[in-house]
Amino acid sequence: MVMVKAKSILKNKFGYQEFRSLQEEVINNVLTKKDTLAIMPTGGGKSLCYQIPALIFEGLTVVISPLISLMKDQVEQLDELNIDAIFLNSSLKKRDYQKNSDLVRDKKVKLLYLAPETYMMEATQTLLKSVRVDCITIDEAHCVSEWGHDFRPEYMKISSTREHFPDAVCLALTATATPRVQDDIISSLQFKVYDKFLASFDRPNLFLKVIPKVDPLKQTVDYLSKNRKKPGIIYCFKRKQVETLCEELQALGFSARPYHAGLSDKDRETNQELFLKDEIQIIVATIAFGMGINKPNVRFVVHFDLPKSMESYYQEIGRAGRDGLRSECLLLFSYTDIAKFKYLLKKKEEKERNIAEKQIDSLVEYLEYQNCRRGPLLKYFGETFEKTRCNGYCDNCLSQITGDADISEYAYKYLYCVKETGEEYGLSYITNLLRGSKEDIIFKNGHDDLNSYNTGKSLQRNQWSIVARQLVEKGFLNWDQKKDKLELTAKGIAFIHKQYAIDGRLSEEAEDKSQNDNGKAKSTEEIFAGLNELRKEYADDQGIPPYAVITEESLHELSKMLPKDKEEFLSVPGITEFKYKKYGVDFIKKIIKLAKLKTDDDERNPDNNKFIQIGEKYNKGMPIREIAEEFDIKYSLVLDNLYHYIQSGGKLNKIDWLALRILGKETLDKVTATFDAMGCQNLENVLEHFEGNIGIDHLKIIRLYYLNEN
Ligand code: ADP
Repeated sequence: MVMVKAKSILKNKFGYQEFRSLQEEVINNVLTKKDTLAIMPTGGGKSLCYQIPALIFEGLTVVISPLISLMKDQVEQLDELNIDAIFLNSSLKKRDYQKNSDLVRDKKVKLLYLAPETYMMEATQTLLKSVRVDCITIDEAHCVSEWGHDFRPEYMKISSTREHFPDAVCLALTATATPRVQDDIISSLQFKVYDKFLASFDRPNLFLKVIPKVDPLKQTVDYLSKNRKKPGIIYCFKRKQVETLCEELQALGFSARPYHAGLSDKDRETNQELFLKDEIQIIVATIAFGMGINKPNVRFVVHFDLPKSMESYYQEIGRAGRDGLRSECLLLFSYTDIAKFKYLLKKKEEKERNIAEKQIDSLVEYLEYQNCRRGPLLKYFGETFEKTRCNGYCDNCLSQITGDADISEYAYKYLYCVKETGEEYGLSYITNLLRGSKEDIIFKNGHDDLNSYNTGKSLQRNQWSIVARQLVEKGFLNWDQKKDKLELTAKGIAFIHKQYAIDGRLSEEAEDKSQNDNGKAKSTEEIFAGLNELRKEYADDQGIPPYAVITEESLHELSKMLPKDKEEFLSVPGITEFKYKKYGVDFIKKIIKLAKLKTDDDERNPDNNKFIQIGEKYNKGMPIREIAEEFDIKYSLVLDNLYHYIQSGGKLNKIDWLALRILGKETLDKVTATFDAMGCQNLENVLEHFEGNIGIDHLKIIRLYYLNEN
């Protein structure tokens, strides 16, 4: 029953449809008053784990947090959700402090955020004893442990107060805790009957990339130029580097500010605030920046210099993408940096030096890694990455999908198969054999007994064609086009004996696709930019950061879903009735205005989606000649439009044209084998290959058949 209530609060107060991993379990535990330790990665949604119970409990939920800036931020966001929350810490003026204490005493608030020092003060304890406390949440609970990276002695004293609040369940939250730190938390907070929840350390929305550091300033500027207007952090090792880089970026027109321990408190605070409020795009910082920064829409973290260890790396990249949206982590890697780093360690004591050296060695291992980076990253934190690939969310996996991959493994399989079959066969046959085809001819030839048979399932048919084509291009294979027969060259034979890395591609559409995506993204991006301006106006009026008005995720959804009325607006994730009342009408007006611009564009450019209309008409059964008449275009152009339709992801219902039957199976096979070998993007080449013996329209028809069937 209580969980039904929790779910309804999730929807109606926070505007989210589903719980994230572990939230439900943790909330349930807290509501049944069982002490709980939850370890969830940054951005995993820890806050809801106590905010939702707080709204269900009759009494007060106390949240102990060491980070004053974070408290203010949380309270501002809760205010924006119409939830009664306040904080007490040393940053408050006396009058406000008194006012907030009164609100607690009068039971006017559900959530009270406290610094550990404030919590331990006698006055606070007296205040809390005067009301009912249902939950004590300890945020950043690793601060309890001397083994954690941020030990706070005040945290150790918390347990001594627990006896005063017998009704209060204790919830300890942290993003990083080794097993040792976990034990410390449990014993130090005097958990007796308790549950522990450990979420995965994986942050699937972070794209991980490492490049050799060659010309760092130029590399950084190139990167920033492609990511204009997106908020991001650049980490440098030394203050001096922060200053220099920041000045250079400013001189090049980027809005950047520095952050390091050498600046005055006021400058640091100002720069941080400007960054939080999206007034500046970039913070160039030492590791001094980041602790307690809850800016959900940090879109990138660049490591200009090497981080100290895997822990630091994980923490620093963890500041990106807390809103769950794609964010990038770029690291410039140089062996000189490592040498410098190790040189600095020479001055340290042996024990400390040994630990630091081990840490840097693990990091280097990660940086040099050739396969999915999530493997070693998660392994470092004691977790196994269940999959072997992360679907293009690290540089290594991405290159596997799009290009520039090491194709040596496939090259070997292919060449070996050509050799094993006596260099008698063509492209399709070899591919079929590798993919374990059940064609009669393979059994008749007894080739199902070969070593190569059925060893190539990991690649699709068209990927094998791409591999084969590259082997011909790179001179490993000769292809006798007339006989459709492949033969090994001396280079090919040598490779079978001694393999080496071959750079190549496994997809021919990678480039096309990314261009398409950019094209499509643009209009949505423009709408996003427009809505972002409106959000900023609202934020500035209220003196709060833009993401407190409407989160980044919701803003993206608004730009995609383009709601036109209240109902549609409320269906956007993260939007609640309260938000609608405050901002809905203005946002809808702006959306209609921005989206209309786009509609006008379409009217001016009717060809934009003609291929879709043509594809749809064809699929409804309209013959090509009639389509040509209706659109007043040539027959050939209809075929081009249908090609475009398939390329954009459409599928044609049937291709049983007369033309195909007239051309006959033999021609069909010949042409498709040529497509296998040469690709089908450039028909001129194919036409040339057939020396004019087959017409261009017929090629276009066969191409449709070929793509549609594949
Ligand atoms: P953490 O404290 O673990 O770093 P937060 O509690 O700040 O993470 O949550 C990160 C972001 O995710 C916030 O913007 C929050 O509103 C959002 N969020 C949390 N839970 C959900 C959910 N169930 N569905 C969608 N977004 C969520």
